[in-house]
Amino acid sequence: MQFYSTNNPDLRVDLKEAVIRSLPADNGLYMPVSISPLPDSFWENWRTMSFSDLGFHVAKNFFQDAIPEADLKKIVQDAINFDAPLVPLTESSNILELFHGPTLAFKDFGARFMARLMAYLTKDDTDELTVLVATSGDTGGAVASAFHNVAGTRVIILYPKGGVSDLQEKQLTTLGGNISALEVEGTFDDCQRMVKACFLDTDLAKKHNLTSANSINISRLLPQSFYYFHAARQLLDKHENTPEIEPTFVIPSGNFGNLTAGLIAQQMGLKVRQFVAATNVNDVVPRYLAEGNYEPVDSIATISNAMDVGAPSNFARMQNFFGDDWETMRENISGLAFTDEETREAIKTVKDKLGYTIDPHGAVGWLASEIWQQADPSSHTIILETAHPSKFIDTMESELGAGNIEIPERLACLADLEKVAKLVKPDPQEVIDFLG
Ligand SMILES: *Cc1c(COP(=O)(O)O)cnc(C)c1O
Repeated sequence: MQFYSTNNPDLRVDLKEAVIRSLPADNGLYMPVSISPLPDSFWENWRTMSFSDLGFHVAKNFFQDAIPEADLKKIVQDAINFDAPLVPLTESSNILELFHGPTLAFKDFGARFMARLMAYLTKDDTDELTVLVATSGDTGGAVASAFHNVAGTRVIILYPKGGVSDLQEKQLTTLGGNISALEVEGTFDDCQRMVKACFLDTDLAKKHNLTSANSINISRLLPQSFYYFHAARQLLDKHENTPEIEPTFVIPSGNFGNLTAGLIAQQMGLKVRQFVAATNVNDVVPRYLAEGNYEPVDSIATISNAMDVGAPSNFARMQNFFGDDWETMRENISGLAFTDEETREAIKTVKDKLGYTIDPHGAVGWLASEIWQQADPSSHTIILETAHPSKFIDTMESELGAGNIEIPERLACLADLEKVAKLVKPDPQEVIDFLG
């Protein structure tokens, strides 16, 4: 299987190059040359397969013959060893819980798959692989957990000082071993720029065998397409007597990797009625969809911090999917943005009226679902609940009251561990110095 750059359709690389290099030298993003529709044999069985089998068949279709079947099956089975259940909120709205992995956010799907795929692709290499990753909250924890103690890898995580919750910070600063954290005196966009600058320095990238674990890496996106299929079949199970139902996916978005994974699923043949991109006040994409002008700006801090992105890194991929055509993109994707005040109110309403504890990111999604269903009353929405509410305990407790949020043990146990991070200025040179 081959990949091209969004900046140069003639540039072609193989799977290993796309996954390990992450980013083409021309500053574009890697895209698969073609995404084939899933075969009839898949659609005959997809409703009853296990989740990891479903993932395997989707991955096999995506990678074609680039990885032997038995190896690919093992990678998917090891990575996707937890569920993504659909929880009905009302007759026509549903929550897809994506937080049942080890670090309680959907990032576990991508990070766990990518870590295993990278280890597989480099198993015969001698050089240590250095994984550089910028995080707005959940990526760092998922990547740290996925790569911890993986032989031949070293992970450096950049995160904005004060920009992530306490428990999120503990997830990236307490593992030690092959995992290091740089606390950047700047925003997430600064972190992202610093990582990108290191990659674009080809000598540096070569010297340290740099790879990226951000959603610019195509191997993180693919496993996220698995749960779109899984969600759709659970929706069909819920409405056994209406087999023609097609889901409307409402996706709380920051870098738009999750949404791009939905587009991959759609290209493989999944029937989707509409994608609704839900953002906080960092609304470059909703504004683009409304007006046709794409104007990246500095990000603004909000209570849904994992979506505080002013220059979404997957936007180029989304445009590419729609042949750079604004009209086509807005027919398929709608955008809605909400303030922190609305989000806080939504957290309370969803708890009081529907009995569900929703995190700030999911709450932005719920708001979008409510507005969307006014425009399309017969739609059935699936709101992606991208993280467990306990990851944002301060915000949650201020809305729902202290002591009302259950913290799963795998997160609670981090509270007493000591944070180890190096404080740095928002300058790529700091990363270069740290690399040594
Ligand atoms: C990363 C993240 C998002 C944003 O996902 P993108 O793929 O960057 O759009 C939303 N919510 C949570 C909780 C996240 O961790």
